[in-house]
Amino acid sequence: MKEGRFSVRNYILPIVTTVIVFINLAMIELMAKKPLLLLDRFSPGAGWLQVLMVSSYAFVVAYNMQDPAKTALWRQRTWLFFSTVFFGQLLLGLFASPIFLMSGKLHLPIPAMIVAAPLYRGETSMMPFLFLSTIVLSGPAWCSHICYFGGIDAFAATGKTKKTPIKNKFGIKHTILIVVITVSLLLRLFDVPAIWAASVALGFGLGGVAVIYLFSRKQGRMVHCTMYCPIGSIVQYAKLMSPFRMQIGQDCSACGRCSNYCKYDALNRTDILSHKPGLSCTLCGDCVVSCPSSSIKYKFFNFSGDFSRKAWLCISVALHAITLTLARI
Ligand code: SF4
Ligand code: SF4
Repeated sequence: MKEGRFSVRNYILPIVTTVIVFINLAMIELMAKKPLLLLDRFSPGAGWLQVLMVSSYAFVVAYNMQDPAKTALWRQRTWLFFSTVFFGQLLLGLFASPIFLMSGKLHLPIPAMIVAAPLYRGETSMMPFLFLSTIVLSGPAWCSHICYFGGIDAFAATGKTKKTPIKNKFGIKHTILIVVITVSLLLRLFDVPAIWAASVALGFGLGGVAVIYLFSRKQGRMVHCTMYCPIGSIVQYAKLMSPFRMQIGQDCSACGRCSNYCKYDALNRTDILSHKPGLSCTLCGDCVVSCPSSSIKYKFFNFSGDFSRKAWLCISVALHAITLTLARI
């Protein structure tokens, strides 16, 4: 039986997501020793208003994204919003007031720094732990809902998706990851001053912007995230820690329609014939609506595809909303 738009069942996912976001942000508001929420830094106690605003945002996002036909559009919109807030905060911190920089210090906003900075400094920070916790909870949601750079790559890749597979994707991305790790260690070994190390990182970040502009935009797929970013390479393996998967059922007729919907180059002919998306799949869910025989499904233990999709969405939207609030530069 077809569910009505106002069926109670349509509100379960958004309500659960909202409650998770509210509880987490309320705990941060109550327990943090220094104000972590932006509004608190302007007026003590105003953080509660931000908690309510972000919880409401999570409700709207979860409500709309649970409809597979709206997932891709809402994912792109909200991810771009995330990137806009993140980089907007950076610009305000640089040109208006350091109050917008949560730690009071400027960090280079390049995902590769998650792995490069601890290797160069020889000490870790909160960021790798935050990143790892998203992997444990949601698998690859970092690369489909959370990363500030990915939102821009996704926006650039809007439009018709090129169908031919990206050539030597894995060779290039693994080489870039090894180079980033090696260079970070060498910079540390030779005690290269932070200003020079930061210049190298900035050059790498600008290279990423060039990849987005030159390739993602033209190919209609996320070439930067799929091939260039070393964190994307780590995510494609680390995500296997999480029990969430995407599978293609035996009833798949290999018509190839889904390939047009995948911005991560994970639904090439070989992937379809092997009945599972390629390693670069981020469980974004854009392809679910594309299959005429509903053969592409989320998998979470033995639960149904629909329940698995909603469980993943709930966790990913909650992480998106919480990280949006705490996005620190
Ligand atoms: S691949 Fe890199 S830039 Fe793209 S979403 Fe993942 S971490 Fe961000
Ligand atoms: S295979 Fe589907 S879920 Fe995986 S990245 Fe591609 S569109 Fe997203």
